[in-house]
This record gives sequence, structure tokens and C-alpha cells, in this order.
Amino acid sequence: MPTPLSRSRPARYGQGVELRTVDHPLVAHKLTLLRDESTDSPTFRRLTEELVTLLAYEATREVRVVEHTVQTPLQRAVGVKLAAPRPLVVPILRAGLGMLEGMTRLIPTAEVGFVGMVRNETTLIATTYAERLPEDLTGRQCYLLDPMLATGGTLAAAVQFLVKRGADHITCICLLAAPEGIARLTELLDDLHVPCTLVVAGVDEKLNDVGYIIPGLGDAGDRLYGVV
Ligand code: URA
Repeated sequence: MPTPLSRSRPARYGQGVELRTVDHPLVAHKLTLLRDESTDSPTFRRLTEELVTLLAYEATREVRVVEHTVQTPLQRAVGVKLAAPRPLVVPILRAGLGMLEGMTRLIPTAEVGFVGMVRNETTLIATTYAERLPEDLTGRQCYLLDPMLATGGTLAAAVQFLVKRGADHITCICLLAAPEGIARLTELLDDLHVPCTLVVAGVDEKLNDVGYIIPGLGDAGDRLYGVV
């Protein structure tokens, strides 16, 4: 069950990945509704968007800004604006697509790239089947969206992909994570030389023997889009 919490708890899992479990009653409430097997697809999609917007608030805590001065009706005021290059949001297809709207609602000026990855349900190994990303990600802050951190293979492969292209700051946003997935992600990214943060709504008990998160919420892609 999601733990009732009041604020985000950072935890370092080894060198490479900082885990933040967002601890907020609204997050726990929406997550519980997502878990409920009687929640239909349209409601599941709406709740996912709302939940991601809440997670995105925490996930963008380190988004880069530069000083920016505006003229108010009364006088000049010094504030900030998002720095260039713009942040890049990357949903991992297919289920990550359900998280995109919730993320871009918070950062509408972000650029969006796509990575298609599929997990072999027998070997649990992830392979890339599609990719639409800028060739050069030098100096980019990237936000990877994937609802379920199960074995960790898919997310680790996606992080490595972005870092190879030059990304220098990665934040992964997931609805749920399994301890096994967090441990594996950390191990796979142990020698990563860029900061990597993992923001989640909850960490569940374990994986079952076919790689599903327990208690979890089932297959996120199927619950978002139906079985195809
Ligand atoms: N992918 C899902 O959609 N659900 C799980 O529980 C694990 C992987």
C-alpha cells in the first residue's frame, strides 16, 4: 500500500541514482485509484496525467533557469525564466505516452522526443524499436517518462542512450517502482557520470515471477490504451 506521507523523501541508491518518493496525500489518493482494477481506461488516463503533473513539480526542482527582468505595472522586477537549451521530455513508448500530457502541462515549452522500447516477456530484456531524438543532447536536461520501473532494464537503457548523445542531467519519472528495479537501475548506472534522479509516487513490495510489480496496478500500457 502507498505510505501516507507529507513530503518528498530523497534517498541515494548508490553512486548514480537519487530516489525521491513524492510524499503527498493527493499523490497517494490518485495512485490508489490507479491501482483499483475497477478504474476504467478513460479515468486511468486522466488520473495518470494528474499524477504526473504532481510528480513533475518535484521532478523539476533542479530545472535550470536564468535571471530575467520584467516590467510590472509598477516597476521592474527581477525573476527567472527557463534556461536554454530547453528541457527535453522523452516518453518511453508505449505506456510513457500516457504521462506526456501531464508533464507538458507543467513545462509547455519543453521539447519532446520519443523512444520506443519493448520488453521481451520471457527474457525481460528491453530492445529499442523506434527513436526520435535530437542527435546532439549536449548540455540538455532530460526527463524520461515510464510509468513502471519493474526490472530496470528499459529505463537504464534509455538513460544510457541519452547520456551517449550528451545529456548532462537526467530525471526519470515513474508512477511505481519495485525495489529490484531500483537496485538494478542503480547497478547499471553506477558508472554514470551525470546526475540521475528517479522520482516516483510509490515503491512497492516486489516483482512477481513474470516481472510484474506487486501489488502494482497491472500492465500500465493495457490499462491506458487497452489490450492490442
Ligand atoms: N510493466 C507494467 O506495465 N506493469 C508492471 O507491473 C511491470 C511492468
